[in-house]
Amino acid sequence: MSRRFCIGLTGGIGSGKSTVAEMFALLGVPIIDTDVIARELTQAGGAALPAIRKEFGDTVIESSGAMDRVRMRAHILSDTMARSRLEAILHPMIQAEAKRRLEALSGAGYAILVVPLLVELGTYRGMVDRVLVVDCEEAMQLARACRRDGRDEAEVRAVMAWQVSRQDRLAQADDVLNNTGDLAALRAAIGELHRKYQKMAGQAAENIA
Ligand code: ADP
Repeated sequence: MSRRFCIGLTGGIGSGKSTVAEMFALLGVPIIDTDVIARELTQAGGAALPAIRKEFGDTVIESSGAMDRVRMRAHILSDTMARSRLEAILHPMIQAEAKRRLEALSGAGYAILVVPLLVELGTYRGMVDRVLVVDCEEAMQLARACRRDGRDEAEVRAVMAWQVSRQDRLAQADDVLNNTGDLAALRAAIGELHRKYQKMAGQAAENIA
């Protein structure tokens, strides 16, 4: 069985990935979100917990058995080696699960795979047919992410510093969603892309048949 036509959705922190994914979902498009998978893997009983406990000890595990996200975030913000160690545990598990979910989708049409670090990691390129970048100015990303998370500017800037530059991300894009306008403008642009992707998915299916 051939896998679904797949759009890789990415963008910097606060650019609007979750908002965009929700709008596609309302159009009936299946969404596989690597952030959601990461949360599932690190919740109580999650598959990544034993390896995380072994690597970092009990101090990053809450009494519920879930990973303490606040502690872990503070830990990896101050220690880049710790961040690499966490990523070495999580990234392969997240990608394997994303692949499983994509292959489990039945029916026609296309799917969206949300990968915040799609450009940084590179390993997802082979899983997606096109890269869709959600884009806005960095000042806007910063303001939106701070407002959403109640985090201070320095913390969001630190996350932005890990991520590729806006320019490098845009250089990898097949399609760009400009998210500098209001939500109605975003919805309209998504409607247009949806029609284009449906057509492309149909053509891809015909080519395989
Ligand atoms: P990401 O998933 O890329 O980090 P989000 O989709 O969570 O970004 O968007 C960041 C914040 O900005 C959210 O609170 C969201 O509701 C808000 N937001 C996103 N796009 C717009 C927009 N076009 N207009 C106003 N607010 C927006």
